[in-house]
Amino acid sequence: MSKPHDYDVVIIGAGMSGMYQLHLLRKLGFSVRVFEAGTGVGGTWYWNRYPGARFDSESYSYGYSFSEEVLQEWDWSEHFAAQPETLRYLDFVADKFDLRTDIQFRARVASAIFDDGENCWDTTLEDGTTTRSRFLITAVGPLSTPAMPAIPGIEDFRGESYHTGTWPHEDVGFAGKRVAVIGTGATGVQTIQEVAKTVGQLTVFQRSPNYCAPLHNSPIDDDTQAKIKASYDEIFAQCNSTHSGFLHDADPRFALQVSDQEREAFYEQRYGEPGFGIWMGNFRDIFVDQDANDTISEFVKNKIRQRVKDPATAEKLIPHNHGFGTRRVPLETGYYEVYNQDNVDLVDIKDMPIDRITATGLECGGKAYEFDMIIYATGFDAVTGGFDKIDIRGLGGRRLKDKWVGGPRTYLGLQVEGFPNMLTLVGPHNAATFCNIPRCIEQNVEWVAELFDYIKAHDIKRIAPTLEAEDAWTEHVYDVGSKLLFTKVDSWFTGINRNIEGKDKRTFLLYAGGAPAYREKCDNVAANNYEGFVLQ
Ligand code: NAP
Repeated sequence: MSKPHDYDVVIIGAGMSGMYQLHLLRKLGFSVRVFEAGTGVGGTWYWNRYPGARFDSESYSYGYSFSEEVLQEWDWSEHFAAQPETLRYLDFVADKFDLRTDIQFRARVASAIFDDGENCWDTTLEDGTTTRSRFLITAVGPLSTPAMPAIPGIEDFRGESYHTGTWPHEDVGFAGKRVAVIGTGATGVQTIQEVAKTVGQLTVFQRSPNYCAPLHNSPIDDDTQAKIKASYDEIFAQCNSTHSGFLHDADPRFALQVSDQEREAFYEQRYGEPGFGIWMGNFRDIFVDQDANDTISEFVKNKIRQRVKDPATAEKLIPHNHGFGTRRVPLETGYYEVYNQDNVDLVDIKDMPIDRITATGLECGGKAYEFDMIIYATGFDAVTGGFDKIDIRGLGGRRLKDKWVGGPRTYLGLQVEGFPNMLTLVGPHNAATFCNIPRCIEQNVEWVAELFDYIKAHDIKRIAPTLEAEDAWTEHVYDVGSKLLFTKVDSWFTGINRNIEGKDKRTFLLYAGGAPAYREKCDNVAANNYEGFVLQ
């Protein structure tokens, strides 16, 4: 006896992609249930409440573009909004479209199993309840699985300890406390510069320095607010024309074809401007040509030397094993000046890993440190981590985790061969993984909504990509990646996370061919009756 469907579609996750997908599918008349582990909407912005959390995209380029009402009603207070404001914004959107009625909170998904005979998915929550749906859409986010460091003794510490990605909802104070921060990625940098404002004593444990650049944030005054609201069409048109969905796009010139003076002046200008211009709006060859990259790397190294008073500390803060922009560039506000404070120490642990966490602090390089608080800014099991922690099984009971053991394989980062009727928003090898993410989320979600319209019109029960289409896309992803200096460096882009077993070999988790090329490919696939997919 076949069991009837509970819903047409189950969506896992109520972050920015799950929220918008729910809204569009509901409008098309599908019955949808969203399962969300948190107690509220917002995904990244719900979980990452760590001190100083804010985005590095211009606020008005980050919001949803699909609703003129939302655009006109919402006022961003700063050019680069902080986490509480972004979460308020997403709550506002959820209220506006009455999204919560179809979202089940405190509902962490444990498994999703495909029923081959019935063409449907059985999604089981940690509480044991199972929901049957024709389609499954994962909206689990690329940076949603916090990774604790593989250091012995973490459970022994008797003081306060927090991972930035699961920061408590209650206020955490630092005044008068001895605080350790482990990790100096984009999250660590934001945390350190904020904690340093009030802390008693701060010790930063740094394994790899990054090239950080100034954010240059500022409030938005009334005049500017009105101008922003009058120019949303141009703002989004600009974002949609650039490689990665930001307002900034590569300069048409090549770094080595301009004079030294012109190059230096350009770098100085970019360093003095707000946002990602220095990364996304730099000379077009800095990501592909080592000599070109060396020029901007040297420029930022010198900035660090100028800003940090103690030359030995400055040298510790300068990266030596990769070039500028080949890992995610953290944007900062007074980060380097933190190391000029008397109550801040930097411990370089590159060649001297932390031996163990103890009841009162940690041991490193034969020295015992005592702390009241340890903050783990140690990042995420990126992109595939959100999938790995759910037991997802496709045809013949094959586990997705097993299929992806040598690195992910997908078609357009949106579907996986052997896993019919499952769509992966912002999945691995999807352009949304290297993007001003809401811009690419909207593309993903709208493309999936169009597909569902087609599915409805043609009474389709099953959709799956062919192995050939998946192989060709995966090869293309690696081919594009191989031209970039990114893929020569250890980072979450290349799937390296030595805190997690099996993640010590470089792959490539992103699609780096650019959002416009990706959009065109997806549109062509749709226009050709979903070429590369088998629809039954
Ligand atoms: P991350 O870039 O992966 O950085 C993790 C840090 O922890 C690194 O410094 C890493 O050192 C260190 N670490 C990890 N394990 C360690 C260990 N066992 N011992 C010592 N140190 C260890 O993670 P993240 O900073 O959370 O950032 C992840 C991504 O989130 C960013 O790249 C960005 O895309 C996004 N993000 C965005 C914003 C924003 O929009 N403003 C803010 C924060 C984060 P190694 O480098 O040596 O591995």
